[in-house]
Amino acid sequence: MPALARILERIDPDEVVELTRTLVRIPSVYRPGDPEGTEARVASFVEAWLRREGFEVEVQLVALGRPNVLGWLGEKTATTRSLLLEGHTDVVTEGDPSHWSWPPFGADLVDGRIYGRGAADMKGGLAAAMIAAAAFKRAGIAPRGKLVVGALVDEEGGMLGVRHLVKTPIGRELDAAIICEPEDNELCLEQRGVIWARVRARGRMAHGAMPEQGVNPIACLATILREAPRLQQRLRKRSERSRYLRPPTVTPTVIQGPPPGVGVPQSNVIPAVAEMTLDIRLTAGVDAEAIRGELEQLCESVSEAHPDVKLEWEPVAPFRLATRVDRSEPLARAMMRGVRQATGRAARFGGVPGSTDGTVLRMELGVPIVTCGPGNRLIPHQVNEFVEVAQLVDAARIYAAAALNYLEA
Ligand SMILES: [Zn+2]
Repeated sequence: MPALARILERIDPDEVVELTRTLVRIPSVYRPGDPEGTEARVASFVEAWLRREGFEVEVQLVALGRPNVLGWLGEKTATTRSLLLEGHTDVVTEGDPSHWSWPPFGADLVDGRIYGRGAADMKGGLAAAMIAAAAFKRAGIAPRGKLVVGALVDEEGGMLGVRHLVKTPIGRELDAAIICEPEDNELCLEQRGVIWARVRARGRMAHGAMPEQGVNPIACLATILREAPRLQQRLRKRSERSRYLRPPTVTPTVIQGPPPGVGVPQSNVIPAVAEMTLDIRLTAGVDAEAIRGELEQLCESVSEAHPDVKLEWEPVAPFRLATRVDRSEPLARAMMRGVRQATGRAARFGGVPGSTDGTVLRMELGVPIVTCGPGNRLIPHQVNEFVEVAQLVDAARIYAAAALNYLEA
């Protein structure tokens, strides 16, 4: 029997379902300051599972109680590749459990769906990746090169897990990654980028009854508000059109004057400082230098209208640029072929509306990434989150076939 058939035979749909349910039942919402509120328990379950299946395992302690777990089969050599199947172990808060129709960490199986926080984002994808890789071992097929399963922490926060991984030997030797985030099993070769720019305007404090005695930084922010659509227009012109992604957007999300820690807001006081955050979403074609230039230009032109205000901006978090890989990339081709082998249908394509751990892998390592995983793209972070069992099983089969194609090529 050919290798792929032997591997696919070892993917048991019931096991994919049960593993997903087990992972969902181990809550892993990150709650700063709460020693129980970390990924530690689910990570140690994944570690034990991988060891039992015969993987080599490395645990990377990223922060207190927050370990990355990496399990792999095979070794990378001068003529072979290393492929990562990537998932994250943290989930966002369940919110008010009374808003749920099923217990948020119960993993109830109802009409072909598993319900629970993280079912789609993304314990389902992680379970599918674990089973797909284990199927190689169970079928007695040693991958050519190295097949890595990664269960990383803090994707929903500052992406500490993947930022740590790219600095370690396992991360640095990667050649490609499949990001198992919920995208209806579509092949997403593009992801939008995100940049949070905080603009700070410094004026001069004064009494609200005598505004001419001060310099009001809030008026300056109003000008930025008016300029934001023009910045959006310029970014749209600079970026490449995408069939799968909405064009760039510039959205003011936070306005504070004075910002916390700088002063106390009072109705009759013109604050010395006011701040605004712009949430900027990008598609491919705008690099870090271009976005910096645009923001400098915005500040300069607004400053001309407000010569007494000192205006500056800073990124709130490291830039996450848009990512794109070409369909001719070996990873993309391995996945297109894998979808057909695993499901009998042609691959469907899509785009990721936000950024993922894959963004960091692409930016820091330059390796191709494809995002593809089980679960509806819109369901993450909602109440009554679910994953379809049929998509889960398809995903495990797609990962196995794509991995074999990619590593053998
Ligand atoms: Zn996710």
